[in-house]
Amino acid sequence: MRFIPFVILLLSFTTQAAGPNWSEVEKESVANLVALIQLDTSQPEGNEIIAARYLRQVLHQQGIASTIYESAPARANIIARLKGNGTHDPLLLLGHLDVVAVERENWSFDPFSGMIMDGKIFGRGAADDKEVVAGTLEIFMLLKRLNISLNRDVIFLAVADEEGGGELGITYMVEHHLDEIRAEFAINEGGWGYIDPATGEYTRFNISTAEKTPRRARLIAKGLAGHGSVPTKDNPIGVLSRAVARIFDTPLPMRLNETTRAFFERLAASSPETEAEIYRAILQPDPSPEIQDRLRALNPSYYSMIRTSISPTIFRGGYQRNVIPSTAEVTLDIRALPDEDPDKLFAAIANIAGEPSIEIVPMKVTRPAHFPSSLQTELFLTLEEVLRERHPNAIILPFMSTGASDSAQLRAVGIPTYGFGAGSIVGEQTGVHGNDEFLRIDAYMEYIRILWEVVSRIVTAS
Ligand SMILES: [Zn+2]
Repeated sequence: MRFIPFVILLLSFTTQAAGPNWSEVEKESVANLVALIQLDTSQPEGNEIIAARYLRQVLHQQGIASTIYESAPARANIIARLKGNGTHDPLLLLGHLDVVAVERENWSFDPFSGMIMDGKIFGRGAADDKEVVAGTLEIFMLLKRLNISLNRDVIFLAVADEEGGGELGITYMVEHHLDEIRAEFAINEGGWGYIDPATGEYTRFNISTAEKTPRRARLIAKGLAGHGSVPTKDNPIGVLSRAVARIFDTPLPMRLNETTRAFFERLAASSPETEAEIYRAILQPDPSPEIQDRLRALNPSYYSMIRTSISPTIFRGGYQRNVIPSTAEVTLDIRALPDEDPDKLFAAIANIAGEPSIEIVPMKVTRPAHFPSSLQTELFLTLEEVLRERHPNAIILPFMSTGASDSAQLRAVGIPTYGFGAGSIVGEQTGVHGNDEFLRIDAYMEYIRILWEVVSRIVTAS
């Protein structure tokens, strides 16, 4: 009887040892990425159904069933699932099918060509986010093709409308199909590797574990309209300007969380001393405004990571040079720390504005507030382990994005979500949300290999 387990062991060993055929993987994953780029899923129309149908066809050819959910006509989300033995809760692989619009006249080639040149794939979505869709699809198909026996289900999900805030995509799926996407943890876009332009080596990886919550508000001042030749005390432009100036000059208190603390600790341990001393000071209780300003001078987005930030972005008031208007209005782009309480936040803003006559009107929130994903989950630890093995000289940083992504909706329903993506060469413009977007094929392949190592360890661990 001892013979049988030995055979099983041997068989599973040979299956594992065989592993993916990487040149086949490259051919297939490049072809899928090119095909997805050629399907125009630009916002605001989206029309993600064409990409969802393509994926359904590819999955079908592998013998994998999938389901398409339309949240609105032609706004499609697609799910497929590989069954495991249920020892652990599922792993979710997420990407988005929509892309931002293009300004065609500013591109030097057809944005939907998927052209390949000089080791790069060109086109809208090449680096945001069709490489994540095609890359996670590849991992998903490999698990099936190599017959990996899974300790948990693996779910492939590609959604609509990420660039529009997710209402027709991830929000719709969380609200209507949560049972089908419920997972122990998820991998999504939102992180990347830094490649040294001189050596081609990876020097750093950012893994997104949290993001700020976009909140916007309008501040409205009202007063008596009148002739510009007769100054009034309640001129809405004057009152609102005072309020905006106070908000501009008074940053909200700084605060670190598990992610940003680890981020600055690891930066402090790996940066030149001139920078490291700033990071160390930021980690102390109550850093001075001077040290916070030095952090801003070093990197404005690091400064945004330590507090809820407020940027006035639109100021409107008045229509004729000799008329005092009856209203003036400013829009504030507020990026809240993940644990920020909205009521307390708006009370604090009113207090800083110091003009009781001004009305504060919060605007609709598309990305929910959420807790940062833990740095102690099996997924995060495995990602760190694989990155350390493959790139021993790179530093690995848990990272809080100042922008927003679909990870917010997943984290808000208790699914820890980690953003990880392909690397890019430091200083090179990849055209994400801009013109001439591209992805380096070697970086794409390394992303897939890292992801394969991570996923195959997680789904086979006991
Ligand atoms: Zn994206």
